[in-house]
Amino acid sequence: MTEHNILYMVVPCYNEEAVLGETSKRLREKYDALIGAGLISPDSRVVFVNDGSKDRTWEIISALHDEAPEYFSGINLAHNAGHQNAVLAGLMTVKDLCDMAITMDADLQDDINAIDEMVKEYHAGSQVVYGVRSARETDTFFKKFTAESFYKLMQKMGADVVYNHADFRLMSRRVLQELGNFREVNLFLRGMVPLIGFKSSKVYYERAERFAGESKYPLKKMLAFAINGITSFSTKPLKLITWLGVIMSVMAVIAFIWAFIVKLLGHSTLGWSSMMCSIWLIGGLQLLALGIIGEYIGKIYAEVKQRPRYIIADFINDAPQHEEDK
Ligand code: UDP
Ligand code: MG
Repeated sequence: MTEHNILYMVVPCYNEEAVLGETSKRLREKYDALIGAGLISPDSRVVFVNDGSKDRTWEIISALHDEAPEYFSGINLAHNAGHQNAVLAGLMTVKDLCDMAITMDADLQDDINAIDEMVKEYHAGSQVVYGVRSARETDTFFKKFTAESFYKLMQKMGADVVYNHADFRLMSRRVLQELGNFREVNLFLRGMVPLIGFKSSKVYYERAERFAGESKYPLKKMLAFAINGITSFSTKPLKLITWLGVIMSVMAVIAFIWAFIVKLLGHSTLGWSSMMCSIWLIGGLQLLALGIIGEYIGKIYAEVKQRPRYIIADFINDAPQHEEDK
């Protein structure tokens, strides 16, 4: 049996009473198989994070824990903190207990059978294993289109997201410790994890339909999530304003020349040339000024995040270790 193989699964649950029975049953079977194969330690656990559910979710989680504490643990959040925060709460709670953690939705849309492959990749040396959807056959055309446009837009905006990867991923203990150093409040985990670095790999799986219950991400929440993702990771929208200002100013020069020619040819009424020129010039100057302010706001935005500026992967040093002077 390999060492360093305690696996903690972190499963956020918001009003998931309809699926928890089946999810826990399947995860339990999966754990038995993985433990039997020597891939994970019997000390591994499944941690359900109750994200302020209004239904019987927490009662079910507590019952699972009472019935089989050797498989199931639970975290009860004081209020609905949202999916990303619930996942982080779970990860930060288990980061010192496990060697690897896998985050997975409760609704069985993520393929439980991909876990084997993820754990194998971890044993082969990957610190992060991304679960990537290979097919979206069960998604509606609308969901597929909006989701895929989102990944493309994020990449264009300069956020390093993994195409078609959501929040089904394995992270090593090491990566969890580093994730703990990210101080930002607007969480967008799928953008943050690639920033951490380390050796990573991908596991492909087919995304299934929700086992039961309804999606907790209606269109409104999806849009808010996308806007949060972009504005938490990119200052490109601010830079865009600067460029618009530059373009407008160039147009102002063209408008100047044009107005001058029209005036020389005697086709213009009194006051037209000066009006034309000032509209373009003032518009351009205003946008440029906004853009410059935006540049500074962009800097403030980066500063207030207090993200770690670097992450050390290895430190090779043969010097004898001294106790620090007290
Ligand atoms: N979830 C959560 N808090 C919320 C909303 C959702 O913990 O405020 C959980 C939910 O229980 C599920 C996961 O996040 O395990 C993904 O939600 P859902 O399946 O509804 O999203 P979809 O797959 O439709 O995008
Ligand atoms: Mg789902």
